[in-house]
Amino acid sequence: MNRTRSTALFEEAKQYFPGGVNSPVRAFKSVHGAPLFIKNAHGAIMYDEDDNEFIDFCCSWGPLIHGHNNPIIKEAVIKTIQNGMSFGAPTVHGNMLGAAMIEQNRYLEKVRFVSSGTEAVMSAVRLARGYTGKSKIIKFDGCYHGHVDSLMVKAGSGLATFGTSSSAGVPESLAKETIVINLNDLQALEDTLVAHSADIAAIIIEPVPANNGLLLQDQNFLIWVRKLCDDHDVLLILDEVISGYRVGLEGAAGYYSVEPDLLTFGKIIGGGLPVGAFGGKADIMGHISPDGPVYQAGTLSANPVAMTAGLTSIELCAKDGFYESQKIKTMRLVNNLRGHIESKGYEMSIVTIGSIFWLAFSKSRIASSQEIDPASMELFKKLHAYLLDHGVYLGPSGYEVGFVSSAHTNIILDKAAQIICDGIDHTFTN
Ligand SMILES: *Cc1c(COP(=O)(O)O)cnc(C)c1O
Repeated sequence: MNRTRSTALFEEAKQYFPGGVNSPVRAFKSVHGAPLFIKNAHGAIMYDEDDNEFIDFCCSWGPLIHGHNNPIIKEAVIKTIQNGMSFGAPTVHGNMLGAAMIEQNRYLEKVRFVSSGTEAVMSAVRLARGYTGKSKIIKFDGCYHGHVDSLMVKAGSGLATFGTSSSAGVPESLAKETIVINLNDLQALEDTLVAHSADIAAIIIEPVPANNGLLLQDQNFLIWVRKLCDDHDVLLILDEVISGYRVGLEGAAGYYSVEPDLLTFGKIIGGGLPVGAFGGKADIMGHISPDGPVYQAGTLSANPVAMTAGLTSIELCAKDGFYESQKIKTMRLVNNLRGHIESKGYEMSIVTIGSIFWLAFSKSRIASSQEIDPASMELFKKLHAYLLDHGVYLGPSGYEVGFVSSAHTNIILDKAAQIICDGIDHTFTN
C-alpha cells in the first residue's frame, strides 16, 4: 500500500505541531507506522491522501453515528452557514438543539452548550463544587473525562486515598482534591464516602466506560453508585460524552435507569462539529452565571452552524427504529467475529454495547482497567497493521473502541468482518 503522501505530510507536520499532531493518540505511537492523512470520507468509507480506501470504524472517535459527510447534516449546515457563521448572540439554532435534548432526556431540565467534551466536564465539575461548597471529586480509574486538570489524576501509591497527577503541569495540590477508585469496587467507594463525604462534591463516572477498552459495568453497580451519592449527599455526574445518543436517545442514564444530577455531552451532539454540553437538574444549573455565582462562558458556545449539525444529528437518531437497527448491524459484525474466534479458540473476545465494540485480547470479562493485560497490546499492534494494509481503519490503540455508523451497510460490515477475521488469524499465527 502506497503511503508516500501521508508520510511526507507527517514529516512536514512535525515542523508545526508537537509530535506532528494536534491530539496525541493520532500520532500512531501505540501502533506501527505513521498516521494517515485523510483526504475525504463518505458514509463508512474513508480515503487517505494516497487514495487508499478504508472501511472506517473510528468515525472521528464517536461523533459520526450517521457516517461521514452525511448528506442530510451537510445540507442543513450549508443552509445555516449562508446566514453567517457566528454572532456571539443567541440564535434559534441553540434553542432548537436545547429544546430537543431536554425533551428527549428525562434527566435534563436545563442545559448549557460549550465547544468540547473537555469543556463540558470542566464546567460540570466547577458547578458541582460551586453548588455543594465542597472541593473533592471521586473519579474511577480507567474512565477518561477529557484533559481537565482535576481529572488528569491517577490513584496514589500505597494506602494513600488521594490522587496524584497523571500529567505534568497538574499541581499535586489540585490532584489531591481528586480521589481515584477502581471501577466495579463498591466497597472502596463506600469506605471513601464514609471517611470523606463531608469534603466530596461529586462522583464522576463514564456510565459506559469506553476510553480504556470497553469496561462495561453491571447496572447494579451504577444503581448503587447513585444510592451512595444520595446517602452521602454527593452529586452524581454521568459523563455521557461518548454514551450520549450512542446507546440510546436517553444515553446511558436511560439505558441503565440511573438518575444523574449532572450530565455531560459531546461527540454526537455536534454531528461532526465542535459541540459539548453540560446540564441536569434545574436547581443545580441555576447556580451557573448569569443566574448564579459559578462562572462559565464561551465565545463560540452554541455556535449556530455547530448547533445545526448537532440538531440534525440527533433528529436522525430520533427516527423510529434507529437504535434497534444500529444494534442489529453491530451484532452482525460482532457475531461474525465471535464465531471465528470461538472456532479457532483464540484468547480473545468482543465486548459490545449498542453500536460500540471492543476487541479484547482476553476471554475473561474485563470490568476494570487493572484487568487489561498491557502485553496484549502487542497483539493489537499486529492486528492494526494488518487491517490498515487491508483496508480497515480502527482507532490507533488497543485501548480504543470501534464505532458502527448507520452508513455501515451489511455488505460493508461483512467485508470488514472477513478482513478482521483474516487479520486475527494473521495476528495469532505469525
Ligand atoms: C471524548 C470524551 C471526552 C472529551 O471530549 P473532547 O471533545 O475530546 O474534549 C470526555 N469524556 C468522555 C467520556 C469522552 O469520551
